[in-house]
Amino acid sequence: MTRNLPEDGCHAADTLRDAAEKAGKGPALARLAEDYPKGPHDQPQSMCPAFGSLRVGLRMARTASILCGSACCVYGLTFTAHFYGARRTVGYVPFDSESLVTGRIFQDIEDAVVETADPDRYDCIVVTNLCVPTASGVPLDRLPEQVNGVRVIGIDVPGFGVPTHAEAKDILAGAMLKRARTEAEVGPVARPDSIPDTDAEDARRVTLIGEMFPADPVVVGGLLAPMGLTVAPPVPSRTWRDQYAALDCAVAAAVHPFYTASVREFRRAGRPVVGSGPVGVEGTAAWLDAVGQAAGIAPRRIEAARAQAVAAIRGALAANPINGRVTVSGYEGSELLVARLLIEAGAEVPYCGTACPRTEWSEADRQWLTAHGCHVQYRAALEQDVEAMREVRPDLAVGTTPLVQKAKELGIPAIYFTNMVSARPLFGAAGAGSIAGIVAAQTRGRERFARMVEFFGPIGSGRRAGYGPASTGTEG
Ligand code: SF4
Repeated sequence: MTRNLPEDGCHAADTLRDAAEKAGKGPALARLAEDYPKGPHDQPQSMCPAFGSLRVGLRMARTASILCGSACCVYGLTFTAHFYGARRTVGYVPFDSESLVTGRIFQDIEDAVVETADPDRYDCIVVTNLCVPTASGVPLDRLPEQVNGVRVIGIDVPGFGVPTHAEAKDILAGAMLKRARTEAEVGPVARPDSIPDTDAEDARRVTLIGEMFPADPVVVGGLLAPMGLTVAPPVPSRTWRDQYAALDCAVAAAVHPFYTASVREFRRAGRPVVGSGPVGVEGTAAWLDAVGQAAGIAPRRIEAARAQAVAAIRGALAANPINGRVTVSGYEGSELLVARLLIEAGAEVPYCGTACPRTEWSEADRQWLTAHGCHVQYRAALEQDVEAMREVRPDLAVGTTPLVQKAKELGIPAIYFTNMVSARPLFGAAGAGSIAGIVAAQTRGRERFARMVEFFGPIGSGRRAGYGPASTGTEG
């Protein structure tokens, strides 16, 4: 979903930000600015950021999601949520100028929360302020902590304060972890269903932070096994109780490097946090080292894990070599890991752009990529991604929807990062085999693209776009 208002509308960022400051949201905006620093461009170029937090809530069992915002924004968000198969109700608290000005809107939200708070159905209700209620200072922090035993969590996710929908996932994941950590600190909490009763009390787990392909945690579990470690339920979590298990880990692995608020909660819980991820031979060896050392594992067991992993991945890479030039652009947060894997598989990757910010958890990947001739662009703008693609003329461009569209116009084979790359395994030997398959299948289409560009010529571009006589070029 693209944002609903035009350039200075969806945003009108300065006006909305000023209004929010005056309405008492200064501290909340300052926290967002610190957690999610802006980059070369201060306006997100992807979908409405609130989709990220909405999606996290919708994927969590026994969690109700209520939005408060302009009808057009809520329409777009719910449409996209259902397009991606949410199959869950999204609550909506509408407003008008009167309810905004009188403050009645807050009462309406409270009423909606009370009406929804059925402990038989829900563990948690998430209320999200979109742009206008945030700018108007609707004080979600004054909502009750719980109603009928159902937790209530209010978050502000304004487009003028959150650069990407990826980081919005962290806003909700972090807010929920904070509440779960507080509960665990106060007293005993319920055992997560995902941890079998037979599981040893002293089992040592690694929590993976970031939404990933379902097979990846299983693969990572295999990589960790020689060190006596297992994987914990990941963050963002799928049930409330899973968060207790996630927090109760030996090590948290910030595989997606933009979960700043979530990492803060792991650190407050006294858990060490490591960055990067187990991609390719070198990436996996370094990651296993970092995890093993953070967990205090004996060097010989770390070495055993490395030896097992490296042999399998080396075999997979050798069996699936990539030969070609690839550019990578995206807003998922795993772009640097994908670029690393491509290079280890034999590809030349001169450019890797990510809409996410530079953080300490992707620093090792940035250094490795730079040393291997890849320019890493954090907070990449679409214009930078397109410029890089034009300049290096890759055999395959992996990117966002508008980038792929531009690539097709230029006759360059291209695939969507989200649909193609994020929907396949990335880690261990499985990731090595999968990425090579994608690149091989897609670059085969190069000749076909060239023929299509030649056949259609300028049709569909510039003044020839759209319907009617003007688009045929027969009329001036
Ligand atoms: S909530 Fe804000 S960023 Fe999202 S669509 Fe509405 S105006 Fe745009």
